[in-house]
Amino acid sequence: MPFSKLSRAQKRAALNELRQALFQHDLWYENFNRTIICRQVPDERDLREDANRRWPLGQWLHGAGANQLGAHPSFSQILAVHELMHRHAAIVLRTSSERRSIALDDYELFLSALKQVRAQLVSIKHELEELLRDRDPLTGAGNHAAMVATLRERQALAPKATCLAMMDIDHFKEVNDTYGHTLGDEFLVQYAEFVMSHLRPHDEFFRFGGEKFLYCAADADLRQGRAIAERLREGLSNREFFVEGYLPLTVTASFGLTPLDASVPVEQSIERADEALRAAKAAGRDRIATWRAPD
Ligand code: GH3
Ligand code: MG
Repeated sequence: MPFSKLSRAQKRAALNELRQALFQHDLWYENFNRTIICRQVPDERDLREDANRRWPLGQWLHGAGANQLGAHPSFSQILAVHELMHRHAAIVLRTSSERRSIALDDYELFLSALKQVRAQLVSIKHELEELLRDRDPLTGAGNHAAMVATLRERQALAPKATCLAMMDIDHFKEVNDTYGHTLGDEFLVQYAEFVMSHLRPHDEFFRFGGEKFLYCAADADLRQGRAIAERLREGLSNREFFVEGYLPLTVTASFGLTPLDASVPVEQSIERADEALRAAKAAGRDRIATWRAPD
């Protein structure tokens, strides 16, 4: 699969693990410097033939990282240069441990390979960050900036009807209190996947903040928007979510609907959807309310 076609979850996992691997590599390099400057006994892993597979970065590059980044055009080169870097590191470390002076060329070869590996990994990191940028990194829903930009584009398509729905999980605090924040996060990922899989291809889904999401139903007037929201509301209330080690979890959500009004700024339509959501909460939750203009 081409690198850019990885799913959002795969990209997010790859980015997290890449950051971790780079951090571990910093620690390895610190230790390398300490060993040669203070003339410590080298770690025996660094002197082995397969030193490039003995430390966290190498373990990752030859394990999970190969699955995640293997399709990237520079990946095979990274593996080769990383191996070369360890070969030069072993030469420098061996020389140091034998109390001989390190040849400038040996050190330069090591340093050049190190810089090359790091530059390539940092470049992939930036690429992943770029691919994830308009998205909420946890759930893959569009982020706040993408939401406003998309709604402005939709507005420009007027008079095509678009229905906005602000949706919020009911009593989500209890989920966190019961399962903890980390499993609460895991639940949010599953919840967002569920909603996205139930929207139509041209609908857009954004994380407004916390456990509040906004979707915009394309080519839908309020009546059609209500039917979509009703399907979602009912589907959610019947859905069992599984977070590791716990009994199935069910939740409900409340919805606030409003048409995307071409005659007011998008922020105002968003606020109307939010106002309707507050009405749905006040009326008892697990329900849909529609914004009404003040009399
Ligand atoms: P209501 O039905 O009125 O919406 O009640 P609620 O408990 O869902 O709402 P409240 O605003 O009291 O609490 C929201 C909780 O959502 C509290 C906050 O810690 C949690 N939360 C917000 N964002 C995240 C997140 O990214 N991850 C996790 N795990 N929890 C989050
Ligand atoms: Mg809530």
